[in-house]
Amino acid sequence: MADDDKHPIRNLIVFPVIAGVILAALLYFIPKFFAFTVNTISTVWRYLLSKTLLPNSFLFLLVVLAVPTIVNLAKSLFRSRALQSNEPNISSYKTDNFLGTTWKWSYITDRDMPTDDLWCFCPNCANRLVYSTDIDVHMNKHTMFICENCGFKSAPLKGDRHDVFGMVARAVERKVTTGEWKSIVAKSDSN
Ligand SMILES: [Zn+2]
Repeated sequence: MADDDKHPIRNLIVFPVIAGVILAALLYFIPKFFAFTVNTISTVWRYLLSKTLLPNSFLFLLVVLAVPTIVNLAKSLFRSRALQSNEPNISSYKTDNFLGTTWKWSYITDRDMPTDDLWCFCPNCANRLVYSTDIDVHMNKHTMFICENCGFKSAPLKGDRHDVFGMVARAVERKVTTGEWKSIVAKSDSN
């Protein structure tokens, strides 16, 4: 493109000439080509409609020989359908285990990230977890996830809620990128 812009005069003269030559050639050859095509098609069609005298045994042999081909075609069609249906779908990847808890989201966005409703759930009773963030004497933040139903407590995780959620979102993104999500989906399907 940039190279063409450097030669406006060449483009102005050479290209119309080339286009003219091509057009003239087409106008000369197309009627001949058209007649040739029509002629070929009608010849082949007449040949296909014409009859051949063959012994019935030969016809029988042809039918017998065709059976394996038809069976194989049907088999491969069936197999590819079966493969397609077994192929895990990214829309099924909406839960995974990270940091000792179960994480869920609605779907993977086109940026390979979990949706903003990402949240964690109790690994024991599936209850939605609540969090509490503490600041230690060195001003480091730690977040713990707690189950109000069964009393489960996660290990203290570095950072505040946003740091932990960001870490999980990035872990999901990595699994989507590497294709690890497929084994997670397959595992949850077989359970
Ligand atoms: Zn629980």
